[in-house]
Amino acid sequence: MTKYIIVAGGVISGVGKGVTTASIAKILKEYGYSVTAIKIDPYLNYDAGTLRPTEHGEVWVTDDGGEIDQDLGNYERFLNIEIPRRNNITSGQIYKTVIDRERKGEFLGETVQFIPHIPNEIKNRIQESAKGYDFAIIEIGGTIGDFENLPFLFAMKGLEREIGKEHVIYILVSYLPVPGHMGEMKTKPTQQAIKQLSESGIFPDFIICRSKIALDDVRKKKIEVYGNIPSDYVISEPDVDTIYRIPLDLEQESLGYKILSELRMKLKKKPQYKVWNDLVNKIVNPKHKIKIAMVGKYLDIGNYSLKDSYISVNEALLHAGASLDAGVEIVWIDAKELEKKDPAELLKDIQGILIPGGFGESGVEGKIRAIQYARENNIPFLGLCYGLQLAVVEYARNVCQMSDAHTTEIAQKTPYPVIDVLESQKEILDKGDYGGTMRLGAYAAKLKKDTKVYSLYKDLGRLKEEKNKVQTLKGKKEQAFRLGTHDTDTDIVLERHRHRYEVNPQFVSQIEEKGMVFSGYHQRSDNTKLMEFIELPEHKYFVATQAHPEFKSSLEFPAPLFYGFIRAALDKN
Ligand code: GLN
Repeated sequence: MTKYIIVAGGVISGVGKGVTTASIAKILKEYGYSVTAIKIDPYLNYDAGTLRPTEHGEVWVTDDGGEIDQDLGNYERFLNIEIPRRNNITSGQIYKTVIDRERKGEFLGETVQFIPHIPNEIKNRIQESAKGYDFAIIEIGGTIGDFENLPFLFAMKGLEREIGKEHVIYILVSYLPVPGHMGEMKTKPTQQAIKQLSESGIFPDFIICRSKIALDDVRKKKIEVYGNIPSDYVISEPDVDTIYRIPLDLEQESLGYKILSELRMKLKKKPQYKVWNDLVNKIVNPKHKIKIAMVGKYLDIGNYSLKDSYISVNEALLHAGASLDAGVEIVWIDAKELEKKDPAELLKDIQGILIPGGFGESGVEGKIRAIQYARENNIPFLGLCYGLQLAVVEYARNVCQMSDAHTTEIAQKTPYPVIDVLESQKEILDKGDYGGTMRLGAYAAKLKKDTKVYSLYKDLGRLKEEKNKVQTLKGKKEQAFRLGTHDTDTDIVLERHRHRYEVNPQFVSQIEEKGMVFSGYHQRSDNTKLMEFIELPEHKYFVATQAHPEFKSSLEFPAPLFYGFIRAALDKN
């Protein structure tokens, strides 16, 4: 029977519930158990696809094409498992399902009410996602006391009543402030959060205390006395130099063992943290240091949200850096600045240039100038999605003599639409159905042998690993289209996508003649070939992909193209 671990947050938002949840899941997985993680977002949006990235952070894309909350990215990065879209539950989905069912007459004349119908739907969804796993760890978004998360707490209590308390554990992640004028850590807000949670009938089994510094015994004792939680179950989780240290810190507090003993379970496997620990040390004390310029559009984003909107790219750079013992400093370059200033000046002292994904016109010419600068000066370059599209535009304009070549996202009347919406997508776009025209989720690409892209995927073990995934996809009828016509399992990689435009197949051979190599493509069932990777063989490292490989990068398994990029930036090729 699946054991459920429910994680809720108290005192303030943004205490790090997501990373804490991912860390607990990682610990249990290290103990030999199968674990999945579920994120509940109490907002009414159906999914994160339409949310402003500057407010909510980046949109995370799943293999099965979901656009969901970035916390699920942390789960995947810590667990190395693929989490399906249904593991992100929003209030919007719950209400919509209940109302749709009511319209279909499925409730047979019953009065459809908040209780029991909404909590029942929540429980169903959670149990469906948890099926087959030893542990399901559920993070309830928001803060205890919010109106919005009450239905979810109520549903969890109901689940506990149905399956028995011996299968459910509640964890409250709280925050202990140290007000500057007092210099003393205060437990009162945590005591109140415990009280507030108990109003939903839930008494936390563990309190995880986030704070600037570690909790002392006096504080633990205070929470024991005033909150009625044994001090052994009050866990300290102070600020850290890297989030990847958190599972190790929680192990120091024996949280994993305590959870198991609370559930009367035993270790299935002795945890092995050596590799993880070494990587953490390399993050904190790297032997080499490099600077990577990230050229994006930042003007309309405040300093604080900047990092969050590219979180997967930042993490992928960090993962690749850790495995090469290199600390990567990201230098944020506003693409608009590059339109006015000399790239040689703005991009001096950097070892690599990265163009991340993006939409729209802002800063496009600046990004193209950065790409030209990287290409002409043999500076390692990695382009992601829009980054690939603009690299093709740059090459068409400056090498293939197609003046004014462009993407039709920006210039509909360009004489050389090297990046365009394909015919079959145009019809849907004309009807204004933007969601429907995106290529979302994992797609198979066949790689060309003797290319840099091929060797990187091969050397990092991905070609081997993808074989199983191809088999799984073949078995899943509704997802089989992701394979296109590639029914073999050799030289195939699966990467995630989120874009509308493609390299225009009409120009591929002309561009190829001038030296750009298309190192992998996806072939749709109507036989259209979609270009997935490009590279310049004579360049130190000039590689781009239509996909977002950052979504599959983890500390233990860095994304091959990021690895190659950092290695080139370190001058190791
Ligand atoms: N704007 C481009 C497109 O829609 C690229 C999108 C992206 O970089 N994610 O195709």
